[in-house]
Amino acid sequence: MQYHSFLIKYAEIGTKGKNRYVFEDALVHDIRMKLKRVEGEFSVTRERGRIYVNAKSEDYDFDDVVNALQHVFGIVGICPMVQLKDVHEYRQVSNQVLTYWKEVYGDRKLSFKVRTRRADKTFPMNSEEISAELGHDILEAFPNTSVDVHTPEVLLQVEIRQYINIFSEVLPGAGGMPLGTNGKAMLLLSGGIDSPVAGYMISKRGAIIEACYFHAPPYTSERAKQKVIDLAKEVSQYSGAIALHVVNFTDIQLKIYEKCPHEELTIIMRRYMMRIAEAIAKRRNCIGLITGESIGQVASQTMQSLVCTNEVCTLPVYRPVIAFDKQEIVDISQRIGTYETSIEPYEDCCTIFVARHPVTKPIPEKIRASEKIIYDECIPMMEKAVNEAELIWCDASK
Ligand code: ATP
Ligand code: MG
Repeated sequence: MQYHSFLIKYAEIGTKGKNRYVFEDALVHDIRMKLKRVEGEFSVTRERGRIYVNAKSEDYDFDDVVNALQHVFGIVGICPMVQLKDVHEYRQVSNQVLTYWKEVYGDRKLSFKVRTRRADKTFPMNSEEISAELGHDILEAFPNTSVDVHTPEVLLQVEIRQYINIFSEVLPGAGGMPLGTNGKAMLLLSGGIDSPVAGYMISKRGAIIEACYFHAPPYTSERAKQKVIDLAKEVSQYSGAIALHVVNFTDIQLKIYEKCPHEELTIIMRRYMMRIAEAIAKRRNCIGLITGESIGQVASQTMQSLVCTNEVCTLPVYRPVIAFDKQEIVDISQRIGTYETSIEPYEDCCTIFVARHPVTKPIPEKIRASEKIIYDECIPMMEKAVNEAELIWCDASK
């Protein structure tokens, strides 16, 4: 079946009351942006609680369109459909439904149910009459079919509106809220599995994200940095272009290594990362930080450790994978396509400057005391790190 039209289903926007149009406009905008990258020409239109995508010509690839739409936050379902214009008689609708059925399902043995919604009350039959008649016509034309009103294998939907829409397949969308309908947040993006997933999840709620990566040349390689750029690009397929701030962390890290108790290295290092990320976040008008932390995953992510890293920030820190098991995070990373890059074996600054026996229950007062020894020396280093961070735009579409 060569489809020309798609009905876009969205969920939570429907509950947004007076603001609803803001969300719908954002969604239409995102869909247009994503389809720009797909070969062919498309129109994206809004009609009373519905968004339609129509291909203007034959020269497009169905899978490419679906793939693009599956990267748009705010869409819960994508229904390839047949849309009829200037049809006002039952017989025409029935003929089109039978053609549709033949092309999509052929003579397969299937149970079905027809559901009709009639918004155009000038159509001469009501919804129940149309469903019953269509059911009858399908049964007659395709003897292998049967009706099952409770758990049909195919739910054939017919909408009688300004146009007539016929569809039965709903392909899953990414869910969430359209981009830009929330604030902007700064993701601490490492080369690991968790932080790209965390960024994806906050972006999915409609937030714009930027990212910070801390590297420690020459202890961490260019290749490790490239891996983070690749990850940011992968996330950008959903989130839109990401401004990645690459922060040189070597001096601070060496200072911590030289002067602080080794079992506290990771916690103190994480506190400096949070401080620097927050300073860059504020400059960039971000109103939150995002990390890929998950309770108990490693020593620096026990609840006691999180108290210590959290206390240096004034912005809210969003930790969307906080209660996820590793496997649950891995599952998402595989689904969104970041996993393969995340497991590339390039060292991270956390893995190089790491203690053999890190504290698992750090006491804030003690951490503050250890940190005090280096804090003054670190102030100009932090300023330098913030001022000299390299900005790299990561955009999968470029
Ligand atoms: P990830 O898989 O996200 O790297 P992880 O399990 O390796 O997480 P940690 O290394 O303890 O955990 O890091 C915890 C969080 O701190 C990360 O999820 C990330 O948000 C941030 N982070 C750690 N290292 C860096 C880094 N080099 N640059 C930027 N952020 C970092
Ligand atoms: Mg890590």
